[in-house]
Amino acid sequence: MAIIELRDITKTYRQGELEVKVLKGVNLEVEKGDFLAIMGASGSGKSTLLYIIGCLESPSSGTYRLAGAEVSKLEDDELSRVRNERLGFVFQSFYLIPYLTVEENVLVPTIYSKKRRDYKARARHLLEQVGLGHRVSFLPSELSGGQKQRVAIVRSLINDPDIVLADEPTGQLDSHSSAQVMEILSDLNKQGKTIIVVTHDEQTADYASRRVIMKDGLLYSA
Ligand code: ADP
Ligand code: MG
Repeated sequence: MAIIELRDITKTYRQGELEVKVLKGVNLEVEKGDFLAIMGASGSGKSTLLYIIGCLESPSSGTYRLAGAEVSKLEDDELSRVRNERLGFVFQSFYLIPYLTVEENVLVPTIYSKKRRDYKARARHLLEQVGLGHRVSFLPSELSGGQKQRVAIVRSLINDPDIVLADEPTGQLDSHSSAQVMEILSDLNKQGKTIIVVTHDEQTADYASRRVIMKDGLLYSA
């Protein structure tokens, strides 16, 4: 069974009088353990699609099954739980909190967690794994772009999600840092995590095992 299953997903944004139909009937199945790249021109709706997959936006119509559950039928608290436990997010501009240390940033998604886990030890362990064991008490402003993105990846992993969604994760990075970030995502995929990366960069997409392209509101396999 696919872990992600989108059927006839549409999304229309209203801007005053104007309606912008961004997604016009997207179908997509992602199997557990897939590494998918979503490509397409700027403004084609890649982020919108990823946000729907991440339950950060709801579709205007269509059905979305995530790990067997129809997302639109989930109550708010169930939806937050699914989002927190199953999904990790990585964004182009990192979104680290400037006045929190590396370790504190990584622990932000655990603030509302009721589970008693040793998150701090986990944070340190994961930071070591991405080569940032010596940066735990640094502030984001003291890190390079590549280091910031590695912190953001660790933050996305703190609740051990099965799916990691990355929106242009290498968009602000030089080629060396991009490769480091994509190697980490590849390793996570080899450990069994499902990875979806939005990118318009060929080299970034090369790490994925499958590609789809957004065009004119529809998704095509590539
Ligand atoms: P991409 O990530 O491929 O660049 P987006 O999904 O960000 O594309 O945007 C697709 C289209 O939807 C763009 O025309 C954008 O202006 C529009 N759009 C995205 N988000 C909103 C929003 N919250 N309100 C209105 N229009 C939006
Ligand atoms: Mg985008």
